[in-house]
Amino acid sequence: MASQEIETLAAALARLPGLGPRSARRAVLWLVKRRESALPALLEALATVGEALVECDTCGNVDTTNPCGICADPRRDTKSLCVVEDVADLWALDRAKLFTGRYHVLGGKLSALDGVRPEDLNIASLLARVEEGGVDEVVLAMNATLEGQTTAHYLAERLEEHPVRITQLAHGLPVGGELDYLDEGTLAQALRARRPVG
Ligand SMILES: [Zn+2]
Repeated sequence: MASQEIETLAAALARLPGLGPRSARRAVLWLVKRRESALPALLEALATVGEALVECDTCGNVDTTNPCGICADPRRDTKSLCVVEDVADLWALDRAKLFTGRYHVLGGKLSALDGVRPEDLNIASLLARVEEGGVDEVVLAMNATLEGQTTAHYLAERLEEHPVRITQLAHGLPVGGELDYLDEGTLAQALRARRPVG
């Protein structure tokens, strides 16, 4: 029988995306065996993340500064705004290094099943950024899932009354594909071939 401490850690790790109870338990055993070599670095990294990372008030990115490095970067094109579901998508797109504008993180996608409504997402702040002016193009970079596309359609409707060009990623994206899992070449291609919504 594992001790209570190990059970608690395994339960906490099992909540991480991609880790089930079995792999969480394996990770705990791995750490116990490397208490001196691997654990201190992990603890330090976790503490740093806990202390230093903040959410950007402007775009919702996670960084060590607020506004984040992307929002604060004067070389970024302020006319283009790329809307993504999650921070992981922002990072995936930015790794592809093709988009030179700024981002807006919705914090999820509309879902009747999970009860996610427009007011649960960062949509009001997106509309506010567009209304502020200076934005020429909004790229809707939702995942190629049913809910992602429902969200994109909803946003396109809400943005219609604003004088901006609305585009979305070309769907050479695999159906059901999530941005974070695509290789950078596929992502770059989808962004390059983006097309008007409608
Ligand atoms: Zn930001």
